[in-house]
Amino acid sequence: MSRCLLVSNRLPVAFDPKRNEFTPSAGGLASAIRGLDAAKVGFAFEWFGIVTDDIAAASIAELRGERQAQMLCHPVVVPKRTYDEYYNLYCNNVLWPLFHYERSMVRHNQDGWLAYCEVNRLMAETILTQAKDDDIVWVHDFQLLLVPGLVKEHRPELRVGFFLHIPFPSSEIFRELPQRKEILQSLLRCDQIGFHDLSYLNHFRSSVQRILGELPTEEVNWGVYPISIDVDHFLRLARSEETRHFVKKYLENKKDMRWVLGIDRLDYIKGLLLKLSAFKAFLKKFPGERERVQLVQVVIPSRIDVPEYKGLKAKIEQLASSINGEFGTPAWTPVQYLYHSVSEAELSALYQLSEVLHVGSRRDGMNLVSLEYVVSQDENDPGVVLLSEFAGAHSTLSYAMSINPWNIHDTATRLREALHHPEVKRRGEMAAMKDFLRGYTSSDWARTILRELTIPHREAARVQSLPSDGRFPWMSQLRDQRVLFFCDLDGTLAPIIQHPKDVRLQARTVELIQSISKRGSCEFVIVSGRDKEFLEEQFVDNDLDVPLAACHGAYSYSPLEQKWKNLIPNDSTRWKEKVLEILTLYTRRTPESFIEDKGHAITWHYRNSPREFAEFLATKLFFELEETLANQPVQVNRGKKVIEVKSMHANKGYFVQNWLQAREPRPDVVVAIGDDTTDEDMFAALQARTDVRPYCIKVGKEKSHAPFFIKDQASVNLFLEKFLQSIDT
Ligand code: UDP
Repeated sequence: MSRCLLVSNRLPVAFDPKRNEFTPSAGGLASAIRGLDAAKVGFAFEWFGIVTDDIAAASIAELRGERQAQMLCHPVVVPKRTYDEYYNLYCNNVLWPLFHYERSMVRHNQDGWLAYCEVNRLMAETILTQAKDDDIVWVHDFQLLLVPGLVKEHRPELRVGFFLHIPFPSSEIFRELPQRKEILQSLLRCDQIGFHDLSYLNHFRSSVQRILGELPTEEVNWGVYPISIDVDHFLRLARSEETRHFVKKYLENKKDMRWVLGIDRLDYIKGLLLKLSAFKAFLKKFPGERERVQLVQVVIPSRIDVPEYKGLKAKIEQLASSINGEFGTPAWTPVQYLYHSVSEAELSALYQLSEVLHVGSRRDGMNLVSLEYVVSQDENDPGVVLLSEFAGAHSTLSYAMSINPWNIHDTATRLREALHHPEVKRRGEMAAMKDFLRGYTSSDWARTILRELTIPHREAARVQSLPSDGRFPWMSQLRDQRVLFFCDLDGTLAPIIQHPKDVRLQARTVELIQSISKRGSCEFVIVSGRDKEFLEEQFVDNDLDVPLAACHGAYSYSPLEQKWKNLIPNDSTRWKEKVLEILTLYTRRTPESFIEDKGHAITWHYRNSPREFAEFLATKLFFELEETLANQPVQVNRGKKVIEVKSMHANKGYFVQNWLQAREPRPDVVVAIGDDTTDEDMFAALQARTDVRPYCIKVGKEKSHAPFFIKDQASVNLFLEKFLQSIDT
């Protein structure tokens, strides 16, 4: 079985120094992952988590509780002081509030950031020493955002996935984070990034675009995988002897009272004050409901040593007792407030006995309580979930009753509707949600993610990147072979720069082209999208005697004859007028964009324009052109910061086919190298040929017809050097 190294802030067990014993960790991640069935998921899990130096790390390492049967624990020891700074000053004072849109709670802090870097480094170091090449590393949550980058820096081949358990905020919020770049750059090294909700993924994508300038060219697998729960465990729990005991006990007091249940950790994100206010509004608005309904609110203690949390607790208690004071009677306490944890059996009993579960989170990554409630319901007389639309679970629980927790009066009305929701509807809706969860448990969640994290690995094996010595293995067989070399210019021989007209070849590149083209056995052809004049300046005026193809192969230049040939039959360019008219309109609306007329192609460039606006208009323009030109002999292409319309015949694929046709004797080997979408025509044409051996090379890691790739333009010279050596020796 493959090994999956699960990396998170906490281990699934915590040490209780007072009792000197280990207890299962609280919290959503721990309970979701504890429920994984390793055999069902198909991986052997080993868990890496942090312990501070005052905890007996050695004992945790040996511990394998019943529900962690297959999970070996690796404690990563961090000095207590560093841990406190990392956890309190950065995780809890910066990332947690910012990612939950609580900007007024954010306390930026440099010491906290340094400790965060240090703890992430310690974790990455442990992973690097423990991970074998075919292991999968699965990093969890906002405490360890830098781990993927640090691991990949040293072991780029190791498969690394990341899952975020909290929301990813809108880019408007995220871009306030001083360390935004470091964090995004680390995440982009992952092979896969998972979120609970599509909105989080969209926010992440737009943050990358705005902060780093553009989306990565390498394929990163970004996905939406809402977490689930250990459904069987909650089903068993609901029927257990212990739970039944609590149900019986509570029923004696509950009698005909109807319960609205709240189970929330003490945290400002849970919207406890909004919930209490809505309950107060409900009692005011619907006096008939008084003495018939009770809010049973369990608040699980959390971070009570932090002044803000202490203050929040005081406010909650004040509001609860003021509601009780205002509306209560000797026989009825409107708000039953419990400030302590409850056992699993008590929890299950509360879920079963409550007519409504009220989740009023201001923001919540997922909210497992709502899923647990659904699974625990009696199918004959189930309750209703009143669910904040700002909780990730909102997308999973399709029949929950939605609330905007900020709208207190509407929430009060919805609460009444929930309490009077007809039984037939409750049954049907709850059954549908329960069925869904039965088929999608926490094991399914993990299996889906890990399966997708391993598939691309196998596919990637078919593609070969340029080894660090600059030689592809096939280059050792080029001696005594007739080699034809097709080479693109921009992005391949020369870097992409701000002003295309300023592009110049490096002296070393010129030397290499010259040397290769002088070899009798080798023909070196430049195949570019540029116009004739530009190529003449670059090559002919520099005494570089190589054949040239301009405008994607519409024109070709022979150094022997020293003249250009138009390769396109019946030069029909009537479409150009229409295209120029449309492009002019877009150019006027987009600052710094411009039109380049290349003869058989017209290109709209927007690389210096305001990024998001230009990308938005480019998408519109692309569809408008495709529609307008549907019956014309042209192709509309979207390349890197360009939209191009070109004659169907101005195509690098046609060009290389024609060039090969005219070659006698045929070359043995054809090497083609390029970086852009127009080079794909050339790759596709060559890969299909059987009369020559094609070696197509993509510069960059985007999907391509080419089976070989060179990671960036800067590495092309090294490849050319080694190519030259290979044809010589
Ligand atoms: N829970 C708990 N102790 C309790 C009551 C509940 O540990 O006294 C569990 C609950 O069953 C759920 C988790 O805590 O699995 C809370 O997860 P949720 O996603 O709702 O909120 P989080 O606390 O992770 O923000």
